[in-house]
Amino acid sequence: MIISMRPHATREEIDRVCERIREFGYKVHSIAGEERVVIGAVGMGDVTACLESLEATPGVETAMRISAPYKFVSKEFKKERTRIRVGGVEIGGDEFVVMAGPCSVENEKQILQTAEGVAAAGAKVLRGGAFKPRTSPYDFQGLALEGLKLLAKARQATGLAIVTEIMSEGDVETVAEYADIMQVGARNMQNFALLKALGKCRRPILLKRGMSSTIKELLMSAEYITAHGNPNIMLCERGIRTFETATRNTCDITAVAVLNELTHLPVILDPSHATGKQSLVPALARAAVAIGADGLIVEVHPCPEKAVSDGAQSLRLERFHSMMQELEPYIKLWEESRVTAAAASA
Ligand code: PEP
Ligand code: MN
Repeated sequence: MIISMRPHATREEIDRVCERIREFGYKVHSIAGEERVVIGAVGMGDVTACLESLEATPGVETAMRISAPYKFVSKEFKKERTRIRVGGVEIGGDEFVVMAGPCSVENEKQILQTAEGVAAAGAKVLRGGAFKPRTSPYDFQGLALEGLKLLAKARQATGLAIVTEIMSEGDVETVAEYADIMQVGARNMQNFALLKALGKCRRPILLKRGMSSTIKELLMSAEYITAHGNPNIMLCERGIRTFETATRNTCDITAVAVLNELTHLPVILDPSHATGKQSLVPALARAAVAIGADGLIVEVHPCPEKAVSDGAQSLRLERFHSMMQELEPYIKLWEESRVTAAAASA
C-alpha cells in the first residue's frame, strides 16, 4: 500500500497513520516526497479494511494498493525519477553519465592510465573489478584488497567516482570503504544474502541483470535491497543468453524502455558484456542514449590484447575518446528530451 499524506500533514498525523498501519499487521517504510510525505506499507493483512481505515484517518489524502509485486521500486509507489548523487555527479537526473574502465584492475600503471584517459574523454565514474567472478577457478580472480586500494588511488588522481563489484556478503564493509558504487554482477543478481546485506549498506548499488533473468526478477532483486533499507539502486541491462551466437549475449535493449515504464530507478546499459565485441560497442552505446538509458558502463583498456579479462570487448582509450565525441549530438537530444519530459510531468 502507499499512503499519500496531505501537503501540510502534522508529525502527529503521520505518526498516527504509521500506528494504524502496524495495527493492521503491516510494516511501515516512509519516504519524504518532494511536496508531501508518502508512506509505504508492506506485509500481509486485511488490505481492504486497512485502506478504508486509513482513508478515514486525519491527514491522509489517498491510500492505495500497489498491484506490482515489487512495491518500493515501482512507478506506482513513486512517480519522480530516483536521482543518485555520487561524487560530483548525479545519476538518473539531467546528465547522461558514462562509467568506464577495465574489466579487472591489473596494476597501478594500467588503472591510472585508464582513469586519466577516460576522465579526459568525459567519463564521470571509473569501473574496475577487484573481485572477479570467473567461470574457471584457474582464471585471474582479481587483486582483491590491493585492487581496491589502486582504485582509491585512481580516484585521488582523477576525481572520478569508483564502481567496483562486490561478490560476497562478507566483503561488504571492505568494498564499501573504497567504492562509491557497489556493483552486483549478473551472476549474483539473485544472491539474496548479498542483496540483504547491501540493503543495510549506505553506498549506492549498480544491480546488473542476471543473464537468465527476467525483467520482473531484476526488479524483485532491487526490491530486496530497498526493502532492507537502501533505496539508491541503479539497474543495468548487460545482455541475456539466447540461441544467438554472433554476440556474447543478446542485448535486450527494449528492457531499458520497459524499466522506464515500470520503475523510477535509473537504468544503465553495458554495451561491452552485451556484445562481447569492441567493434559493436559504439553502435549499442548510441542506441542506449536514444532509448533513454541514464548512462553507460563501458570496458576500456590501454592495451586490450594484454588484458587479463575481457580484452576482446574492451575499447582502446583512443576509441573510447572518439566514441564519446560521436555520442555528443545524441546526448544533446537526450538532454532536450529530459527537459521536455520534466516539463510535461510538472
Ligand atoms: C563485469 O562488469 O566485469 C562483469 C563481470 O559483468 P557481468 O556481471 O555483467 O557479467
Ligand atoms: Mn568484464
